[in-house]
Amino acid sequence: MIEKGFVRLLTPAEINDIAQRVTVIHCNSCGAPVDLKKGHACVHCRSPLSLLDPTAVEKALQGYAHAVKATAPSAPAAVGVADALIMLERDRQRALREPAPSAARC
Ligand SMILES: [Zn+2]
Repeated sequence: MIEKGFVRLLTPAEINDIAQRVTVIHCNSCGAPVDLKKGHACVHCRSPLSLLDPTAVEKALQGYAHAVKATAPSAPAAVGVADALIMLERDRQRALREPAPSAARC
């Protein structure tokens, strides 16, 4: 995903910005909670914090949908899959913006 440009590592400034709104996120690799105020990597598996770039995903999927239409006009709509992926990412971003109930205890 990183090689394809869909996922990029977060800059320290972005991590600090997210830490202002959310105290705890969950590691994409192992699922462990990561306290953003204590570190910028997962304390359990050392994975760096990364971000799924919705713009890059959307652009790539539009390219694939266009390529599919050009080669097989009657192929099933790839746009439906793209919309589903974008909705998933929007939900994830919304969850990041809203403080998690477990974070309120800290
Ligand atoms: Zn982890």
